[in-house]
Amino acid sequence: MPGSRWTKPQIESLVDQIVHLSKPLPEIAIPGKTRAAINNQRKRLQRAGVLNGSFAGREVKPWTYPELKRLTAFTQEYGFSASFIAQMSLLPGRTKDSISKMMGRHGLGNPAIKERARQACRFDPRRREEFQRFLLTEGRLLPSMAIARQWGLAQKTVTAYRRRLGIQLSWREARSSDDFKRQQRKRAAAFVAHTRERWKQWRDRKKLLWEKLRQQLAQRPDRPPARVCQACGEQWYAAREFFHVRTRRSPAGVKIGYCRVCRLCRAERRRKPVSAAGACGSRNDTATCAIAAGG
Ligand SMILES: [Zn+2]
Repeated sequence: MPGSRWTKPQIESLVDQIVHLSKPLPEIAIPGKTRAAINNQRKRLQRAGVLNGSFAGREVKPWTYPELKRLTAFTQEYGFSASFIAQMSLLPGRTKDSISKMMGRHGLGNPAIKERARQACRFDPRRREEFQRFLLTEGRLLPSMAIARQWGLAQKTVTAYRRRLGIQLSWREARSSDDFKRQQRKRAAAFVAHTRERWKQWRDRKKLLWEKLRQQLAQRPDRPPARVCQACGEQWYAAREFFHVRTRRSPAGVKIGYCRVCRLCRAERRRKPVSAAGACGSRNDTATCAIAAGG
């Protein structure tokens, strides 16, 4: 239901409350306007530059389809947790919380981990006392991860106990522990190895299919012209199956052309930063994909 138009005094009052009184949304009051209406108007004024930067707003970056696809693969194929994905910057710019929320919305995530969380073991009083004593004495400076393993607990539980006892490790103590670093390196290496292996399998399968297709095309009089990949030197055909097609607008008009390198080589080049840096951000493949004339 659209509300009545904003009057000049109403807008002036809103600007005054934001700019001069620095009021947060819940405290802003304009008679006859709902909080949603106030919020929307504040956003419009901010975009129009009326608020002199008093209210910056929150930039909500919507998830893109490729991001969601990667998230699905990370969680379902590799079984990664939200914190691991965030820690390794596998989805650049996404925090652990936003990843976790997205996983919830799409029913992703590891059922075993959820189940483990549900059935987290509860200590009986005697054992709890024993555990607390351990934390205060021998376990005092051990990394939480090591203690968790030793006692069959989640690392989170150990940190929660430490917090309650007022003996949590400093950030530095926790993070600089060799165990933490070793674990992190191990996981990163496992990820890279796993991805590389899957990639290799995909590539081999694809290449086999391509060779078959090339044979079939060779028999046909209406086959497209042959086209050599500038990277692997294989002779394929100038067709979408083998070469990525790029459209470019320029003052002269729209230019359509095939990539200089075949799809396999292109995919390989695009992948490189993954194994190098563990990141999957958007990459500029213009260099890989220089337009060649013809099509
Ligand atoms: Zn190639």
